[in-house]
Amino acid sequence: MRMTFRRLIGDLSVLGVVGGLTACGGGNESVGPNAVAAAPTAMSGVLRVGTAVEVASGESGEKIDGAVFTVNGREYTSSQGQITLTEAVALTSEVRIVAPGMLERRTLLREPRAPRFALWPQTSTSGMDEAYTRAIVYSHPEGAGPLRRLSRGTTHVAVVPSEDLRGEEEMAAHREAAERVTAASGGQVVYTVETQRPASGVYVETRLARENDDLCAGHNILAFEQDFIRSAETVRAVIVYCDPKSARTAVVSHEMGHTFGLYHSPDSKELMYAFFDGHGAVDFGARESLEMRLMLQRPGGNQFPDDDRSVGATGAGGTHVIVCPGSAPPGESGSRPTAR
Ligand SMILES: [Zn+2]
Repeated sequence: MRMTFRRLIGDLSVLGVVGGLTACGGGNESVGPNAVAAAPTAMSGVLRVGTAVEVASGESGEKIDGAVFTVNGREYTSSQGQITLTEAVALTSEVRIVAPGMLERRTLLREPRAPRFALWPQTSTSGMDEAYTRAIVYSHPEGAGPLRRLSRGTTHVAVVPSEDLRGEEEMAAHREAAERVTAASGGQVVYTVETQRPASGVYVETRLARENDDLCAGHNILAFEQDFIRSAETVRAVIVYCDPKSARTAVVSHEMGHTFGLYHSPDSKELMYAFFDGHGAVDFGARESLEMRLMLQRPGGNQFPDDDRSVGATGAGGTHVIVCPGSAPPGESGSRPTAR
């Protein structure tokens, strides 16, 4: 079963390439700390002796004891969620944090004052584990890749259905999707359905497929989602419904999950399941929601398991496509969906 799933994902990458997929890799300039919206600050460039550094869980916010924090070859162990620097450390020094139950964090010291590191849990009571995180956050159609997310600082996303999707059922499905993705993000990003593109900010346009939408030609493709990426983060997206019925079901919510940055879930009981046909889960589950909230604590370009040392501020742009089939292609040996 697993082999089949992997092979299908591999096959979908063919479509992605045809669609003009560009990897959203990182550059060299460092930007953005764990605290998502914090602007880069021009400070003295050194953290002084005695600076307190906090280590906490990205899920619960609870302080973590016994985390081993390494900077400049010096190890500190957190007590009551804190370590205190015993020597000065230059900003942008590399940091490694190993803590029980958490993914190993590799990053740069970017916060000059009261730095705080929120760690990504390995597992949680939501059922999330490392393999799940890898699948839903880091599995691009073309293979393992960096975390992809809404442009940092985004608190509102306007969803703009095209004229042919303004029917009652379609609009209701879009409003429902907007509410679900908003709730799943913990209200940190509010999606609203609009009838006009906003003058600024992130927006998602949705429309029915046109004849030249080759990505719809594969086996039972319900929809595809395309991101426009700047500095490894999504600035706008388009959802295309290959099957008009998809615009009236929870497929809209599934596609909205892609605009947020989620990939596909391996779990057939979840909204982000790879072969979601609109009749399974109609809402994001606890672990999908947890992954979303953790993603907001990281810059786009973060690498699995949890490394943002090479995240770039500029240059990494392009488009990115996720194709969503409603069922597996026929034939165990994998008849390849074709984009032509
Ligand atoms: Zn999908």
